[in-house]
Amino acid sequence: MAPGNGWDVIVAGGGPAGAITAWRLATAGMRTAIVDAARFPRDKACGGGVQVRASKWIPFEWQHVVRSAVYRADFSYKLGERFTRHYPDPIVYCVRRTEFDACLLDQARLAGAQVFEGVRVDRVEPVVESVRLDTSRGAMTARYVVGADGANSVAGKPLNSRENFYWQAAIYLEVAAGQLDTQPRGDSLRIDWASLPSGYAWTFPKDDFVNVGAGCPVALAKSLRRYLRDYLGSESLMQPAAAAGLRPSGHMLPTLTHRTIPAGKGLFLVGDAAGLVEPLTGEGISYACHSAALAARALVEYFDSAADATEAYAHSLKREIGYEIMLARRLLSLAVTFPRLFYRVFRSSDEVWVTFCRVLRGEMTFEHLRNRILGPLKVLGSTLDSLVDWGERRRVLGHVITGP
Ligand SMILES: Cc1cc2nc3c(=O)[nH]c(=O)nc-3n(C[C@H](O)[C@H](O)[C@H](O)COP(=O)(O)OP(=O)(O)OC[C@H]3O[C@@H](n4cnc5c(N)ncnc54)[C@H](O)[C@@H]3O)c2cc1C
Repeated sequence: MAPGNGWDVIVAGGGPAGAITAWRLATAGMRTAIVDAARFPRDKACGGGVQVRASKWIPFEWQHVVRSAVYRADFSYKLGERFTRHYPDPIVYCVRRTEFDACLLDQARLAGAQVFEGVRVDRVEPVVESVRLDTSRGAMTARYVVGADGANSVAGKPLNSRENFYWQAAIYLEVAAGQLDTQPRGDSLRIDWASLPSGYAWTFPKDDFVNVGAGCPVALAKSLRRYLRDYLGSESLMQPAAAAGLRPSGHMLPTLTHRTIPAGKGLFLVGDAAGLVEPLTGEGISYACHSAALAARALVEYFDSAADATEAYAHSLKREIGYEIMLARRLLSLAVTFPRLFYRVFRSSDEVWVTFCRVLRGEMTFEHLRNRILGPLKVLGSTLDSLVDWGERRRVLGHVITGP
């Protein structure tokens, strides 16, 4: 079938945010199309760590693509001193994005969404009572367009410029476990922090694969490759010569700010296109799935009124996700300003560790976590916020100016 006209909703991008939005819309009886530039299964730059809270927002069976369930975290500080923490229930499920994303897209197709793979969206233009897409296979129109086309969203261009987001960058390697000298535990993830003024390195186990990577604010991105090399060396995962032969790939991670516009002009942005990467952990999959539910609900409830649908989506997104992301951003500033303290609190406070795990599981919020970490200091409110904002800028800029 040719892309064409007459769709209720066209979803630009068939990653987690797009596939789940389309599943929900098609299940509600809407004529729904997904247009994705790639052909699936396709890879996506990612650690593939799906926090357990994402399960709440994936409305069908997907657990068969989980390769490891994580119950433990091994932390290190500046590639040196270490500690391990356990939790009785899984906190993160590790997936390969080729398998996970193909599974979600298949479900959208089964629910009745028409999927056009290998079709690139070049331009999106709101017109009277509809939205027009120029694609590599011709023009398409729909009453509404959902922009789920990731960090470099084309669909989001009529609403946001790059300055509307806070940007981080990350690079990763996904290697066959057989290539490694040391096998990481299947139930444990590794995190190193404070080696860069902001950011961390990780190892996620995926049965016969292992994902190793590092992320940080874009201002520090030049240091990422070296940091990843140092991290690989300190882990003794592989011989330096073997590690030198690997080429990490990377991508950007956008986080919304007070300037970000999530909907308008018949367009609804979800997932990375809306800047829904939680900045402390760099996790974007669960909010991609969560925002899909919010956008689909607004479109189904208010299909006949673009203004009401826009307002409903913007409001629920701010209340359920935006506020959490804002608090996670504050925690990131705190961790960057006081890295030693942050490390010690995670090592010594059972309450903080349990709260963190429960946030990853979707049972508690970043507000709980912030209160646990700050304790009585939380009464300092905006004074503390200003102090850590300043501290973060100073540390990050100091590294940029003077180098590592
Ligand atoms: C190195 C790295 C590691 C990460 N690790 C994690 C992690 O461990 N856990 C986690 O939760 N998050 C992680 N993230 C973030 C996570 O990958 C994203 O938040 C998540 O993929 C967002 O899903 P999405 O559906 O919004 O966008 P995407 O998954 O990016 O999907 C967008 C889709 O749109 C398509 N597309 C793009 N442009 C066009 C176009 N012009 N026309 C048509 N189609 C288009 C793409 O082909 C793609 O299929 C990581 C990110 C990076 C870069």
